[in-house]
Amino acid sequence: MTWDYKHEPFTDFSDSTNQAAFKEALALVKKELGKEYPIVIGGKKIFTEDKIVSENPSNHKEIVGYVSKASRDHAEQAHEAAQEAFKTWKTWSAESRSAILFRAAGLIRKRKHEFSAYLVYEAGKPWKEADADTAEGIDFLEYYGRQMLSLKDGVKIHSREQVEHNQYNYIPLGVGVTISPWNFAFAIMAGTTIAPVVAGNTVLLKPASTTPVIAYKFMEILEEAGLPAGVVNFIPGSGSEIGDYLVDHPKTAFVNFTGSKDVGVRIYERAAKVHPGQKWFKRVAIEMGGKDTIIVDNDSNIETAVQSIVQSAFGFSGQKCSACSRAVIHEDVYDEVLEKVVAETEKLTVGDPTDYTNYMGPVNDQAAFDKVKQYIEIGSSEGKLMVGGTGDNSTGYFVNPTVFADVAPDARLMQEEIFGPVVAFSKAKDFDHLLEIANNTEYGLTGAIISNNREHLERARHEFHVGNLYFNRSCTGAIVGYQPFGGFNMSGTDSKAGGPDHLLLFLQPKTVSDAL
Ligand code: NAD
Repeated sequence: MTWDYKHEPFTDFSDSTNQAAFKEALALVKKELGKEYPIVIGGKKIFTEDKIVSENPSNHKEIVGYVSKASRDHAEQAHEAAQEAFKTWKTWSAESRSAILFRAAGLIRKRKHEFSAYLVYEAGKPWKEADADTAEGIDFLEYYGRQMLSLKDGVKIHSREQVEHNQYNYIPLGVGVTISPWNFAFAIMAGTTIAPVVAGNTVLLKPASTTPVIAYKFMEILEEAGLPAGVVNFIPGSGSEIGDYLVDHPKTAFVNFTGSKDVGVRIYERAAKVHPGQKWFKRVAIEMGGKDTIIVDNDSNIETAVQSIVQSAFGFSGQKCSACSRAVIHEDVYDEVLEKVVAETEKLTVGDPTDYTNYMGPVNDQAAFDKVKQYIEIGSSEGKLMVGGTGDNSTGYFVNPTVFADVAPDARLMQEEIFGPVVAFSKAKDFDHLLEIANNTEYGLTGAIISNNREHLERARHEFHVGNLYFNRSCTGAIVGYQPFGGFNMSGTDSKAGGPDHLLLFLQPKTVSDAL
């Protein structure tokens, strides 16, 4: 480990050696499909009768794994195991805790394509997207490990000569619950687990129900890296059954959630209630959805605008919280940008992501397929369908990339998170109007401005109200430690995953004043 942090490089798949290595990993993982996986409580692996069946979204007949499902009793046992483990884990030095993260990063790096291959099968990710997800998971381990080392001695405060010596140090909170989404099934699951852990807390990990196998593979890595039993407990299960129970639990100190707005709001409200026996206010880090906009100015590079919109709208089938689902274009260049985006979209290929040549894979499951199709219907009455609008769920859940033109800024298509490959175009009359439309949603996660006008870029810096703003590029693809990530308004509590303040969410500062 060197102190300098550098993000994990992405694999160059134009290189035939890398292609061959990835194909080998896909073949290896294919042989592993259909296995049974346990829950893990206090290091004990427990196989339950009741199972979560993880399907391949590209081929719903193919089962990725049968994962044991935790009941409320298991959730309670896991909580007790985490409380017990906290007593010792919190006493480990920051160096020893970080060392486990660095070891885990190294172990994953050695089997990087294998992890990405699981993401191809379980999350329907095209190679490049899967590779980026695995790289981001490695980055979280490397970055948070270093962040903990920088916090270990606290912060210097003032002391009074001949009166007192004062110290300000950070201590962990206790037992927390990590609830993760399926779309960054590896990176976000790993990052939201390990950030509180390296800070000295213990965690109950409830992964998303469509992607529990990759989460179990991460548990194996943590064990191999030397993480003591009970520090992370693996309890896949129903969000409403064990999720509510753990959020309400009086001994839960914090909840680290990433997912949809509806579930995030529910957790925020429930966590605020103080239950009998509860001795603290629960901390919540809640990262939710987005309705992310790219605005295109009249003086701008049109090619950059087109590439940014297409990539941000259709990369991983639009299933990123940062995906561009609104393209707001100055009227002077509206027709040109729209026409070129449609032409580029027509070239995109959709199909099984094990085939490297497919740009887009499936959407997550039947519910996602139905939701996207429903929004396509809504869009047909709110705008003009330019390309796409079709889908096929006979083998996997495939939806073609879809563009709607001439959509009113307050239309549902421009306001509600679709989480699929659908982008709506709106026309603006001038720069003020571009900004006004960009800010007219309840969300505030990402956004991009394409402009050659420096004054306009500077105005956007202050007036485009999103947690992650990009100039002259796509609005997706934040990198740990380079673009700390999190949103304003109903996009969440702006926890800035992969940022310099992130670990403070799971720590409490303690002042000790030593009289002389
Ligand atoms: P989701 O809200 O459906 O599920 C997220 C997690 O919450 C899952 O593990 C689920 O089982 C659990 N859950 C469901 N009900 C629960 C309850 N009552 N109590 C506790 N947990 C419960 O979200 P998803 O479909 O997995 O992910 C997609 C959503 O996540 C999108 O809205 C996307 O924008 C958002 N997202 C946000 C970010 C970000 O950083 N802001 C990143 C990725 C995804």
